[in-house]
Amino acid sequence: MEQGAPDTLWRATVGPKPVFHRLDGPAEVEVAIVGGGFTGLSAALHLARRGVEVLLLEAREIGWGASGRNAGFVVPNFSKADPAAVMEKLGRENGKRLLDLVGRGGDRVFEIAREAGLGRQAEQTGWLQPAHSPAVAKTLQGLVEAWRTLGRSVHWIDAAETARRTGMEIYHGALADPSGGIINPLAYVRALASAAAEAGAQIVEDAAVTKVNSAGGGWLLETTQGNVRAAKVLLCTNAEEEGAASLLARLVIPLNVYQIATEPLPRQVTERFSPLREPVSDTRSNIFTFRLDADNRLISGGMAILPIGAERRMGLRIVRRLASELNLTEVPCLAHVWRGTAAVTTDFLPHIFQLGPGFLGAVGCNGRGIAMTTMLGEVLADAATGVALEALPVPVTEAAPIAFRPLARAAPSAFLLRGLWDDWRTTTRRTAAKAENAPTLKGEVS
Ligand SMILES: Cc1cc2nc3c(=O)[nH]c(=O)nc-3n(C[C@H](O)[C@H](O)[C@H](O)COP(=O)(O)OP(=O)(O)OC[C@H]3O[C@@H](n4cnc5c(N)ncnc54)[C@H](O)[C@@H]3O)c2cc1C
Repeated sequence: MEQGAPDTLWRATVGPKPVFHRLDGPAEVEVAIVGGGFTGLSAALHLARRGVEVLLLEAREIGWGASGRNAGFVVPNFSKADPAAVMEKLGRENGKRLLDLVGRGGDRVFEIAREAGLGRQAEQTGWLQPAHSPAVAKTLQGLVEAWRTLGRSVHWIDAAETARRTGMEIYHGALADPSGGIINPLAYVRALASAAAEAGAQIVEDAAVTKVNSAGGGWLLETTQGNVRAAKVLLCTNAEEEGAASLLARLVIPLNVYQIATEPLPRQVTERFSPLREPVSDTRSNIFTFRLDADNRLISGGMAILPIGAERRMGLRIVRRLASELNLTEVPCLAHVWRGTAAVTTDFLPHIFQLGPGFLGAVGCNGRGIAMTTMLGEVLADAATGVALEALPVPVTEAAPIAFRPLARAAPSAFLLRGLWDDWRTTTRRTAAKAENAPTLKGEVS
């Protein structure tokens, strides 16, 4: 586990962290949750609100994992799957239930954020997915129709409107989803923790769960702060690999993602490419993303093919790409660079894994996890309070480890390499960047 706190924009700008109690001796509860990210905390919140005795154990601090490091794009959609593929894979009824769950994710995130009083740290601006080629535009238009048939309010905007709302001339239109938006993820995950604690959940930080053993018809969790007995266990550790988290990690592929934030930009500059403040994630394989935070800092991200010395190198590369794609006259000053690990399932769908009787693991990520994991927590709360596993809207799967996982870990880099080639072939070329000054890290002289 990495030791130092990451240099995220969120840590630098969010207020003081809430304080939680330590375990004072061995504990016995109805439901133990492992992992203090969106998934575990959303489950804890819903269980506590239903009066269930619940204890959440977090190895470091709330939001230490992907939930406190992500880019804060609230995207109530899949990264790869589309409605037809979901219904084909899960069957019409089960597929529809998952699609309905995904579709409600954006509204639910912003509802929780409003309840927590997050103010400008959570803006339901909508989300844009611009198409980088005519063929992809056609596919996305089909997707808009498919979602609309299911009652979603997504719509298609043409190339001129896309250019007006992104400042970029290369796109052939965009899917617009008004239920998406932007959030400060650390503020959100801490708000979930405070709400769960207020509802009666016990939250313990610095308590790594090293082992989960079956004991007396329930489970015994060995933690760095003592043992916990629980009738049911929810493992919500995403792609983390330490201690008990390895039980879930072997079922997913970890994906390293780099994020950057610039210094705040003048409103007259950001108005040109983000007049409505919508987050943008395009359709290229080497996906181009950007959003603003409440103070008009630009936030973007990317993946490295070779992770050696990647944090600084990637930061510079991402900020140069921002300047080039958005046609900025000056490269913005790079203020924060950080990295996080997302979890990818082999079919790019969220999954609940059966790890034992009353012992479930869950992964909702695949890169679009804020809305999905918030909903997944509710589903886990249902599962822990007696809803039959077959009736859940998320597929419940055998916990079969990914074959040749060490090799599979290299798959994202290989896909990125191939994707760069595909992007180069299919993207409409545009004029070279006007930016000429070299980007600098905060505190450095260029
Ligand atoms: C860099 C990055 C950018 C992203 N950007 C976006 C985005 O813009 N929009 C979006 O929708 N999604 C995004 N995602 C995905 C999203 O962040 C995740 O889907 C989501 O945060 C996963 O939440 P989680 O609760 O399942 O896991 P996590 O937030 O990773 O939480 C797991 C927790 O488990 C704890 N833990 C691990 N092992 C143990 C143990 N043995 N005992 C106790 N605790 C343990 C960890 O410390 C961690 O806090 C991004 C992901 C990354 C990495």
